[in-house]
Formats: sequence, structure tokens, C-alpha cells
Amino acid sequence: MALKDITGQDRPIHILRGCISKERVPHALLFTGDEGIGKKLTAINFAKALNCQRVTGDELRVTSNSLFQETELLTPDSGLLSDACDKCPSCTKINKLFNPDSLIMPDEDERALKEKIYWSHPDVALVLPYKEIIRIDVIRKLEESLSYKPFEGSYKIAIIDGAELMNREAANAFLDTLEAPPSQSIIIMVSSRPDMLLPTIRSRCQRINFSPLPVDTMSSLLQEKFGHKDERQSRFLSILSGGRLGYAVDNSLIRQRDRSFDIFRQMLGSLEEEIWEDKESMEEWFDWCQLLLRDIAVYKATGQTDLLINQDKADEIKTISQRAKLKDMLKLARELYNIKRKLIFNLNKQLTYNYVSLLLKVNLAQNV
Ligand SMILES: [Zn+2]
Repeated sequence: MALKDITGQDRPIHILRGCISKERVPHALLFTGDEGIGKKLTAINFAKALNCQRVTGDELRVTSNSLFQETELLTPDSGLLSDACDKCPSCTKINKLFNPDSLIMPDEDERALKEKIYWSHPDVALVLPYKEIIRIDVIRKLEESLSYKPFEGSYKIAIIDGAELMNREAANAFLDTLEAPPSQSIIIMVSSRPDMLLPTIRSRCQRINFSPLPVDTMSSLLQEKFGHKDERQSRFLSILSGGRLGYAVDNSLIRQRDRSFDIFRQMLGSLEEEIWEDKESMEEWFDWCQLLLRDIAVYKATGQTDLLINQDKADEIKTISQRAKLKDMLKLARELYNIKRKLIFNLNKQLTYNYVSLLLKVNLAQNV
């Protein structure tokens, strides 16, 4: 794929392609927006476009001294000048970053595995957090590689996914590079929580915001481009995913929601205790829980099931709603929101579970 194939993020794509065609690409970019919205996808495709060797259709021709002679066939309005061809050796290499696990060599030692720097092209690196942290040794390695001139492409590019997870030491170390980036280097920070980045880092980057899609737009997209035939189901997925296309096309979305509802139900009543598997699922649960609470409160206030997001769960929502007071529902939603914000401090899973379970019982099940 290429930048032109990314759906629903027209504005960021337009800005980025404009930077390439005007040859004015900022040295440091910060891609922000919700999870699952296409930030990393765009970053990798942007890296492809920046280092693309521009091969068109059938004209791929490789000779030892004159690589891709046919590029002169391109006209300025062909669009390809500001996008990736997705065919040349450079694009092919960078494409492997979409599946970084495939780049791990079987003989890599533990230290290398923990570093989580992936190279599939000598000039493009992808950094991922390891156990929710990006450490200083990773940043130092990255800085060193950025200090060399590009080897194959036009630019040295570093994509840092989850940039807010750089610890303080790493972030401070990175400031100097951001202050005076080596020429021909481009750093792309990707973050769904830019407020957690040091202000000094944020201010050194050109920010590009990615927004969730409106329900109608996403619903049409799901039907036109992703083969969803049922309009009602497309709408449901659009709402459930919060306008995040990456989530809507992920088949596990409904399963995740159902699992979160199971935990919710379990917290409210039964004795069995099967808590969140990991920190990620704990965080997700809080999002799903807010969606469910929203429905419970909407039903309480209006008595109408057609206003619910989780319409397939209407019976259950009605039952819970009838047992609780609106003010307690809203209070609970606020409390859960505050706890979710504290999850970055590695709250103990069992204690959090017990506390939230108590909150649910107090606010939703004791006002019969
Ligand atoms: Zn290419």
C-alpha cells in the first residue's frame, strides 16, 4: 500500500504529501491521535514515500549503473512523486516493518530482543516499547545511526511508536537530537498520549493530528472498501470502534467487548474471579466499561433502547439501569475515568479489580 491508500485520514495525508512534493519535510514530526487510527501505518508509508526509488508499473528495470531509468516518465501530476510506488526494492524492504516480529533473527540474544529496534531497510528504523518502556540505550543506538548519512535512501528515518513511553532519561537524551537533528534525518514520533511527552519534546516536533472518523463516513467505508454488506452492522461497528478504522476492521472487536462485559457482570455479582490477563486488557476494559455505562445511563434517562450503542445487549442494560440511580451511574463513570488515568502508574491488577468491583456494586447494585 501507499499513502494514497490510507482511508479516512485525508488531512494528515494531504499535509505529508505536500511536504514531500515541496521538498520541505520537517526533521521531527509527532503523529498524535487515538490508538487504532492509522498513525503507525501512515508513518511507515511516509517513510516509504520519502525513500522510494519511484518505480512505475511495468517499467521496473534494474541495471547495475542506472537504477530505474524510467523514472523520467513520471510527470509532476502523476501523484507518485509524493507517494510510494510500493514496488521498488526500498518500498519492499520498508514494507517488512508492518510485521516487525518477522524481522527477529532466531539467534538474536535477549538484549537485542529487548531493544526492539527494527531495521528492514538500512536507513529506516522502527522503535517499539519493551514492557511499556523505551530506554536510553535504545535512544542512544538510534541517535548513533541517525548521525550517519543515508546509505541507500534519501533520508535516515526513525519511527518511534509509543513515544510517550520513553522514560525520562531516554527523553532527555533525545532532546539534543531533536534540537539539532542531523541533516537528511527525519524523526517520526507516534503517540496516542502526547500529553505524557515532555513539553520540550513536543515543542520541537511538527504535530500532525489524526482524528476518529464520523460514524456515517466510517459506515460507508466499511461497506464500500471492506466488504461489509449489512448497513446496520457497519454502523454498529463504527460506533463501537469509536471512529477508529483499525479497530472496526479487526475481527476481535466484538469478542473484546463481550469479554469486557463478562468481567463487568462478574464484578457486579458472581463469585468466580477471572481478572484481566494483562495491563493492556485492563486498560481496554475501562474503555469498554465507559461505553456500557454510557448506555446504562442513556436508558435510565430516556427509556429508549434505540439510543443505545450496544443494542444487542439491550435486555441486560435495561436490567442494570432499572436497579440504579442516574447520579450514581455518573459518579461511577467519573471514578472509573480517574482510575483509568492512573493505570500508567502500574496499579496492581488484583487490587484494582477488587476496588472497581466494589465501586460497581456500591453504585449499581445497592439501590434496588
Ligand atoms: Zn518505491
